[in-house]
Amino acid sequence: MNVWGITDRGVIREQNQDAFAHRVLEDGRVLAVVCDGMGGARAGNVASTMAVERFLESFLHPEDAAEDRERLEQAAVQANRAVYHRASTDADCTGMGTTLVAVLAGEWEAAVLNEGDSRAYHIARGQIRRITRDHSLVEDLVQRGELTREQARVHPHRNLITRALGSEPELRADYFRQPLEPGDVLLLCSDGLSNMLTDQELLEVIAQGGGLESCGRQLLERALERGAPDNVTAVLIQR
Ligand code: MN
Repeated sequence: MNVWGITDRGVIREQNQDAFAHRVLEDGRVLAVVCDGMGGARAGNVASTMAVERFLESFLHPEDAAEDRERLEQAAVQANRAVYHRASTDADCTGMGTTLVAVLAGEWEAAVLNEGDSRAYHIARGQIRRITRDHSLVEDLVQRGELTREQARVHPHRNLITRALGSEPELRADYFRQPLEPGDVLLLCSDGLSNMLTDQELLEVIAQGGGLESCGRQLLERALERGAPDNVTAVLIQR
């Protein structure tokens, strides 16, 4: 199992408030997490960095021997507590929060957890499918039939998320399971990528192969070519 990731501040922003990490576990499984922070000058970066660190630390050193789902959820709960606590005690960090999408990929299945609008995709046999559902205003409008996917991607309020890690004392993230077969690819990304490329364009880049690093660099390159107004992050995992 391979994993490769990249993050970039994009063309316009002066700071990168996205953060990511990945680890290959002792049993060969891959753990990866992407966070997209928000909340003013430096706070967005504090939120995403803190969430990634707390999530990893808590997952790698669980308080009790939990099952995969519980372990992912506990790690997200710990990350939420840390960010929420900082947001409510440090005046410079008031109102900060972050998205979080995480995957634990094993030989036959991936467990996925998300909060906010950073996404997980599954790419297999020439098809791409979104695993996660965005917690965002435009996603709600799409679900209600009031916007098309294309309209949502360029909507002026596409950045408004309805749930964020660190914004409330308790967290209830969504959980998904994705069966995996040899050759399947998983993509985790922030909205800085998914707002620049359509799902079909993501697929085109990934389906041409050439290795995860080459695909990841091309995804970033395409987003930058289009002006990347937001930070761009992509993590690719191949079974
Ligand atoms: Mn973003």
